[in-house]
Amino acid sequence: MKGPLYEDVMRNAAMLALVLSAASASAQSPDTILVNGKILTVDAQSSTREALAVRDGRIVALGTSAQMRRLAGPQSRVIDLQGRTVIPGLIDSHLHAIRAAETFATEVNWIGAASLTEALGRITAASRAMKPGAWLIVAGGWNVQQFKENRRPTQAELVAAAPDNPVYVQLGYGWAMLTPLAIKALNVATAPDGSISGGQNTIIALFDRLPKPTFDQQVDGTKKFFRELNRLGITGVYDPGGNNLLPDDYQALFKVWRQGEMTVRVAYTLCGNVPGGEFEELKTLVSLVPQGFGDDMLRFGGLGERITAAMNNNNRPTDAEKAKYYEIVRWAAGRGMTLTMHWSNDASVGQLLDIFEKVNQETPIANLRWSIAHLNDASEGSLRRMKALGIGWTVQDAMYFGGDGYVQQAGAAAAKRVPPVNTATRIGVAIGGGTDAHRVASYNPFTSLQWFLDGKTVGGTAIRGPEETPDRLEALRFYTLGSSWFSFDEKKRGSLEVGKFADLAVLSKDYMTVPVDQVHTIESLLTMVGGKVVFAQGPYAKLERTN
Ligand SMILES: [Zn+2]
Repeated sequence: MKGPLYEDVMRNAAMLALVLSAASASAQSPDTILVNGKILTVDAQSSTREALAVRDGRIVALGTSAQMRRLAGPQSRVIDLQGRTVIPGLIDSHLHAIRAAETFATEVNWIGAASLTEALGRITAASRAMKPGAWLIVAGGWNVQQFKENRRPTQAELVAAAPDNPVYVQLGYGWAMLTPLAIKALNVATAPDGSISGGQNTIIALFDRLPKPTFDQQVDGTKKFFRELNRLGITGVYDPGGNNLLPDDYQALFKVWRQGEMTVRVAYTLCGNVPGGEFEELKTLVSLVPQGFGDDMLRFGGLGERITAAMNNNNRPTDAEKAKYYEIVRWAAGRGMTLTMHWSNDASVGQLLDIFEKVNQETPIANLRWSIAHLNDASEGSLRRMKALGIGWTVQDAMYFGGDGYVQQAGAAAAKRVPPVNTATRIGVAIGGGTDAHRVASYNPFTSLQWFLDGKTVGGTAIRGPEETPDRLEALRFYTLGSSWFSFDEKKRGSLEVGKFADLAVLSKDYMTVPVDQVHTIESLLTMVGGKVVFAQGPYAKLERTN
């Protein structure tokens, strides 16, 4: 096709190229360019790109390495990905991050320890690193089946690991083991073996008796925990409040935000903590905090996940308890507030949905992005009711630790569809990925992603069937764009597209092709939040210091 038209096109193209090169030499050139990568954008077409450019914290272009290089100016930092995979920063839609962060600098972490020996070794290491006589606290996040010994520690083993420290080890919300020094300091009664078993309330009350970290330790813990999340590619969380979390517990987070040192974007929520007095409490707490208040690093995200004590983990609330709950959520709807609600079983969730439907008749809630957390055995009927109300679903890897128990209780056939994420996707329910860390689960998103893909419990039993198993891109979408929906952020982050924040992670292994059983070993080599390097290691270690 030669002729006048063709020449016009060529002339215009040449002019455009001139304009582009003039622009690239000006202050408008990108701050950072990532080239030679495999960038999983999680855009509508799930497209993969080779390179992208960032300016002022946002993505300004995506394309081939050659195209992006052409945009570079003298000041642009060019990062060679050397073929590595890049994903949008992961967002955990149900991580008790504020609580985990508070104690992160002073707790011992058993997350990912493959043996009890390794776990006990972490206690010994902590006893050397901390002040003599300091408390050594493992606050959950582990499970016996992750250990090759397949059992809990004995008191004698904990004493041997740290003879001069009080040691407290909690397992989920049902059991804790204390050493004699810890028992003496707390002055509590234990079983002859040194353990305390009980329901969630027993363990919560016990945990509340442990010494709290100082405020400075909480601030330090918050920064360290966010960095740890950055190491695993996380750039955002939706925090559902939770047990043991009072207004004072938010202050370390607020300080880190005021200092401008947030490296994870946090949407936080408020729980009712005064049994019977939750309505007054919540009204007071939120009277000066409008929904959505904050900025892109820290934002008020509404109520959750414990709204009244009476409706928390209660499959048979009384009419009076439901009436009280209805009064609160109706008020929340009237104020335009978001809320997220903890609910475990499908058999009883109808009571919650009845209340939400009643509220919806008075004040439509579809635009408020309410959500239900957990509900692993959600039925198709419940999911349809959620969809009709515009209620989203935050899904965690609870079955990774709890799947073997679930199979015993509900049977292998029922476990095959738990949780039914493909059904929910088909129905159109908004889904967020996550963990529920750090008491009952590990916060490692790659453990959760692997579990989404293979349905295997920590003990190696595959319990989920192919009908409810998402593919790798779908699982990644839950954990990025899907999770961003719950804080109204899907137009700002969750995917790598022009105009969105440069929140991303360069991975140590290719998430798309690494064997499924290796997904949990992936880490980030380079994590950016708003174009700023917040974590770097290995080949990119230098970038963090020259940020
Ligand atoms: Zn919960």
